Amino acid sequence: MILNAERLVKLCAREIHGWAEAGRPVRWTLRGGLFIVACLDWTLRDDGPPQGRGATLDAIMASDSSDGDSSGARPGEWLERIGALHIHSRYSDGTGTVQEILSAARGAGLDFVVLTDHDNLGAFREGWQGVHDGVALVTAAEVTPWRQGHLLALRVRHCEGYAVRRNRGTMDAVGAQGGYVIVAHPMGKRKRSLGIHHTPLYDWGHPAVRGIEIWSYMHDWVDGIEWWRLPAAYEFWKHPERRVRGPDPHVLRMWDQFGRERRLSGLGGLDCHARRVPLTRLELFSYRQMFGFVRNHLFIRPEDWRNDPIAALTEALVEGRGFVAHDVIANSAGARCDARLADGRALQMGQEAPFADGTRMTLTLPRAAEVRWIADGQCRLKELTGRLSAAPAGPGVYRFEAWLEGAPWIFTNPFYLR
Ligand SMILES: [Zn+2]
Ligand SMILES: [Zn+2]
Repeated sequence: MILNAERLVKLCAREIHGWAEAGRPVRWTLRGGLFIVACLDWTLRDDGPPQGRGATLDAIMASDSSDGDSSGARPGEWLERIGALHIHSRYSDGTGTVQEILSAARGAGLDFVVLTDHDNLGAFREGWQGVHDGVALVTAAEVTPWRQGHLLALRVRHCEGYAVRRNRGTMDAVGAQGGYVIVAHPMGKRKRSLGIHHTPLYDWGHPAVRGIEIWSYMHDWVDGIEWWRLPAAYEFWKHPERRVRGPDPHVLRMWDQFGRERRLSGLGGLDCHARRVPLTRLELFSYRQMFGFVRNHLFIRPEDWRNDPIAALTEALVEGRGFVAHDVIANSAGARCDARLADGRALQMGQEAPFADGTRMTLTLPRAAEVRWIADGQCRLKELTGRLSAAPAGPGVYRFEAWLEGAPWIFTNPFYLR
């Protein structure tokens, strides 16, 4: 443990001066909270790697780089492309430039990132969309309709004026451009102590809606934070992989239910801003750190990737052709999930087919975990294994989950058998 007394005293003096000038109690609370977190970081600096389950973030990074091609692709099969969704840059309220975000993604071994600045497509207009030294950048926007939930708009060329519309008007406008909507943090969040007030969005039935964030990482993290529980906040910040609870069960329930009507892609969103603590050089959840947390593993045909990686990624995102993984606890690259129909045809995650007896679906993992087979929202099979195979008895929405020692790890998109 390093106690940097001189820095601490200087910071105290500066902050007390700042508090005296600050006008409102809420601001005092926020600044005080951030200040104490900053102090704790400076005074408890020898944490070392997380002691938690599975691989540490560093171990994952090391294995990513030593793997070479993390896709695990075999000729004629699907390429696995791993990336992060819901990222803010300096085009809105994130603290990193696009170049910094790309370099963090490269460092974290990602194949793609989806930039979603608030009501802003500056990165698209300035030509950032494309592949940069092996990392594909998809430019989207997080649109904030008037007093309603947030939407990630993909494949759009403009979003001016969308922030003053209501949900339906915004979605109509996105759809009219040929764009797609992914519902961000669908259940909303109200956290007065942190100044967060997001309203939920329930209008999932709009034709432009093609996906939802089944796991909103920052919202999960924020749930456990209260200003009067700052030691816990510090623990959350330092080792979030130990504290997050996984996708909101309510969202999963609604997703399963909705899937009986039509397909809806389930994705993991980071809502990454890489915020900096005022008056310090401290960064809360850097891009590099967050890019190791919740990742989307998408499956893409090699020819589609060669022809137009941005279009291929966008399609895989909205088709739900992949799974969401909490890679900070164990690297899920190489996990495979597929269904084999009675006539021998293969079905990829997110796809739909008529039900027939003899259909089998299988999840294969790079390591053993508690695997759950979910049928229409109900867990029908649960086993500690590296490979679980199941045969549905009738039409339904079928997906897998994998948990490692009680921690959320992998959530596949469903197979829809009608
Ligand atoms: Zn949002
Ligand atoms: Zn956001």
